[in-house]
Amino acid sequence: MNSKVGVLGGGQLGRMLVEAANRLNIQVNILDAQNAPAKQISNHPGHIEGSFKDAAAIEKLAKTCDVVTVEIEHVDADVLAEISTSVKVEPSPKTLQIIKDKYAQKVHLQKFGIPTAESVEVTGTDEASQITELEAIGGKIGYPFMLKSKTEAYDGKGNYPVKSAEELKPAVNALGKGSRPLYAEKWANFTKELAVMVVKTKDGVLAYPTVETVHEDSICKLVFAPARVPEGIREKAEELARKTIAAFDGKGVFGVEMFLLDDGELLINEIAPRPHNSGHYTIEACPLSQYDAHLRAILDLPIPVESLKMREPAIMLNILGGQTPDSHIKVAEVALSNPRTSVHLYGKGEARKGRKMGHLTVTAPTMAEAEKHITPLIEAVDAQKG
Ligand code: ATP
Ligand code: MG
Ligand code: MG
Repeated sequence: MNSKVGVLGGGQLGRMLVEAANRLNIQVNILDAQNAPAKQISNHPGHIEGSFKDAAAIEKLAKTCDVVTVEIEHVDADVLAEISTSVKVEPSPKTLQIIKDKYAQKVHLQKFGIPTAESVEVTGTDEASQITELEAIGGKIGYPFMLKSKTEAYDGKGNYPVKSAEELKPAVNALGKGSRPLYAEKWANFTKELAVMVVKTKDGVLAYPTVETVHEDSICKLVFAPARVPEGIREKAEELARKTIAAFDGKGVFGVEMFLLDDGELLINEIAPRPHNSGHYTIEACPLSQYDAHLRAILDLPIPVESLKMREPAIMLNILGGQTPDSHIKVAEVALSNPRTSVHLYGKGEARKGRKMGHLTVTAPTMAEAEKHITPLIEAVDAQKG
């Protein structure tokens, strides 16, 4: 394989993309800091040192490869639009521009008739005017609602659940004191959260099976694949995810997060224009992982639809940083003795509380058996939380 791929960002998603690329002799040039996780497992002179938000660095990367992609959506989409005249960029810069702003994303989805939680923009740019606006918004969409930062959000860090009008001030304070662009989202009384990894190729839109995600403190903790819901709901979710991603230009994998309401209705929560935490399980559970699929999609290589099916049920457990700098190592040591668990550590050095340091994937012939294996591992993760 002669094509070279450039990636903005070299965290764990970039690292697992490199693992997939290495097996196909595809060179991946990473733009990120010197010892970024993805660079640690890829020794060649094609990497660029710098920030994936720096225009000059992005232009430099573009000159080294045939196609540029991203492992994070918080990138400069305008610069990507400029370089797209001389190098392929996937997914398209326009798609990244829309998705990186969670409110613009919602507006785009509504245009295409995709169901989402009602979202209302906050236009004020200072603390007092944001609070005044939110008083009116709270009256309209009711409490609780979720106040969200439009941009730069991850792991729930741009979110604040507002339970009453009294909480508007602390909420705005926590989210930038007027300096960040915000919007409010009607509360979704979901029974479960579902996710579908979608692959957009030159020929069409394919979907991996629907999975169930369990969040703790707004961070993904567990993924059950397939989702433990009736087959009809899984099929409906896959169909909605495909329809959702068909509304965007460009190739590659996309993570589609959804809420399942008690009447069986599905709402789209948000989209990630890249490999996604809810798709890690595909490494062990499917013939083609989400990383394999992303590379093949952006390089126009074949993706047999059967290769996205699961070989057996899987459960993924995130290893978040705990109380001590080596908390993730302690969890990994427990997992090493489990015969059905694959261990992934990301090379991020010392743990910081709540940071994604690695993950575990259990696969088994039945979900019940996978659940049996994951239970002591969840206990090991929880013991490190303190
Ligand atoms: P990610 O790390 O997935 O990018 P994020 O920081 O962009 O996360 P969201 O996906 O918007 O944040 O929200 C994180 C979690 O907060 C959701 O998975 C869900 O559990 C909860 N949540 C978000 N929006 C709502 C809502 N409107 N109603 C109820 N819960 C919500
Ligand atoms: Mg997000
Ligand atoms: Mg999310």
